[in-house]
Amino acid sequence: MPSRWKSDKPMSRTAFDRKFPDDAACARHLASLRWPGGFICPGCGSARAWELDTKRFTWECAECNRQTSVTAGTVMHRSKLPLRTWFQAVHLMTSHSNGISAEQAQAQLGLGSWNTAWLLLMKLRRAMVDPDRSLLDGIVEVDETEVPLRSRHDPIAGYGIPNVGKLLVIGAVELSEEGHPRRIRLEPLADRTGPSVRGFVGRAVEPGCTVVSDGLPGYRKLTGYNHIGATVGNMAAHILLPWIHRAFSNLKRWLLGTLHGARQPHLRRYLDEFTFRWNRRRSTASAFDRLLGLAVQMHHASRRDFVDQRV
Ligand SMILES: [Zn+2]
Repeated sequence: MPSRWKSDKPMSRTAFDRKFPDDAACARHLASLRWPGGFICPGCGSARAWELDTKRFTWECAECNRQTSVTAGTVMHRSKLPLRTWFQAVHLMTSHSNGISAEQAQAQLGLGSWNTAWLLLMKLRRAMVDPDRSLLDGIVEVDETEVPLRSRHDPIAGYGIPNVGKLLVIGAVELSEEGHPRRIRLEPLADRTGPSVRGFVGRAVEPGCTVVSDGLPGYRKLTGYNHIGATVGNMAAHILLPWIHRAFSNLKRWLLGTLHGARQPHLRRYLDEFTFRWNRRRSTASAFDRLLGLAVQMHHASRRDFVDQRV
């Protein structure tokens, strides 16, 4: 196998266990991601500090005496889970092409409850959106679709999901000059009105780009873009907008297959996870460090924050 393929393979379980045998190895790796040039005090910016013997993975600043743990100010802050469990979860989420459900995470990580597993995955999903990501560029396909909704009381596992409703989703795919799909964006959509669809395009697509849509009235007043409203007529939409339709059909398969349906309050997180995986489908090897790197930049959020959708 040519060596250029090697870097595209996700880290195997064996390689993971070798690289991260214990919490100390994970803490060292986390510290190297947070402070690539060595520890910097978040209080005063000093680089003079020593690692404490009495508190695990904690540094004390020689200038201001502030103590900083490797997880302080990150998504892992205040977690009762061992650091290695976090790392294992990141590995599972980024090495499986379909990701994992809370049930699978609970079983594979040996967690005490489904709720713990669910919260861990939600925290990582939150870290899957890069705050510095750039807008989609060039030629961009935009369309809407409906995905099945699971109510709070429907069974999590198994088939036969009751058809309790649909959730509206809007999405965009950026195309290369050769017409190949590159990055995507997905968002829950309140309705198909002009302000809703144009709001999404404004958040997802670089002004001045070419936007290809199905020509719904909502897109007609799209200003600042070169808009091509493909008149669907008797031609199927998947021919006019092939890549966004491919993304939508993969999304629905994933929501039903791996997650057994999405619940309305958390749909955005699932869309973020799907987007993260799609956008990194050709670089699965770097997805592990990418997600860890984003997770250390992300502040702690509690279960309440997720349930009340404050984050
Ligand atoms: Zn300091």
